[in-house]
Amino acid sequence: MLSDTPTLEEYLAYAADLTARGAAAFTAAADEDALETARIQFLGDKRGELLLLQRALGALPADSRRDAGRAFNDAKTRLTTTHDERQLTVRHATTRAPHLDLTMPARHRWQGAKHPVTVVIDEIVGIFRELGFTVALGPESESEWYNFGALNFPPDHPALDMHDTLYLGEGALLRTHTSPVQVRTLQRYAPPIRILAPGTAFRRDPFDASHAPAFAQIEGLAVDEGISFVDLKATLTHFAQRFFGKTRTRFRPSHFPFTEPSAEMDVECRLCGGAGCSACKGTGWMEILGSGLVHPSVLEAAGVDSERYTGWAFGMGPARIAMLRYDLPDIRLLYDSDMRFLQQVAE
Ligand SMILES: [Zn+2]
Repeated sequence: MLSDTPTLEEYLAYAADLTARGAAAFTAAADEDALETARIQFLGDKRGELLLLQRALGALPADSRRDAGRAFNDAKTRLTTTHDERQLTVRHATTRAPHLDLTMPARHRWQGAKHPVTVVIDEIVGIFRELGFTVALGPESESEWYNFGALNFPPDHPALDMHDTLYLGEGALLRTHTSPVQVRTLQRYAPPIRILAPGTAFRRDPFDASHAPAFAQIEGLAVDEGISFVDLKATLTHFAQRFFGKTRTRFRPSHFPFTEPSAEMDVECRLCGGAGCSACKGTGWMEILGSGLVHPSVLEAAGVDSERYTGWAFGMGPARIAMLRYDLPDIRLLYDSDMRFLQQVAE
């Protein structure tokens, strides 16, 4: 026992002794009853030894209390931890042991990995980052103006139909593409602008082998003085070479409301090397993205002087790119969260 007026040295020695005795008593307790008896002796909230140690703090000279308090806290932590650990062991031994089935297979330890679509997005972003692009994000719930109006969709464009777009009411909708981020960025920052906008887009598509109602999209935008179609072609060709390895590319004329001229970009079919197969429908090419020079109306709608500035933009579906890379026949594999599939393609 401690004297009524202990010195700091006496207090520290006593705390160490108490901790050792308590820990030994807990560890030695063979069952829950024995452990409870030891708990009352050391951690009891009426006359437990730890409680007495705490009260003795008050009898110490004021300048010793800091060191003594630390010793008390250490004793408390050590004793409660030892007690709790022993409690788990004792309980497990008394209640669970008879039911232990040692022939059960061990529980598998799941190790997280990136989803193939995330891997593709990260890689695309990485390549464009090296070219000076930064990532921009925007809301998934948009107004009709940001999603269509500002992007030069005429009011009678079929995409505005209820059959294609998920409307939320009161002029709001779920964005059908990540392009509204372009408009928001142009409104907010003055050119030169180089951004990538990865995100989720939504359409009223049936969930089939090549469509998903919610899908990843990644968009790129570059606006500056003197930007031409040559910049678009050179940058996107560089991207394709970096992403797919040495491959042939081609641009085909296309049409989008927000770009003029517009082009789709193909890479040589990954499976047949251009000879023609069922995956590329005999053409030898696979489409990977849509692109074009930003329509002057889009620049003007966002408040950018289209006489002074020009720009180019592209959009692609990372899931589609992942299908090409992993040779997948069905986009649903990427959105079904089936661990058996994901484990095969996880990197
Ligand atoms: Zn092919």
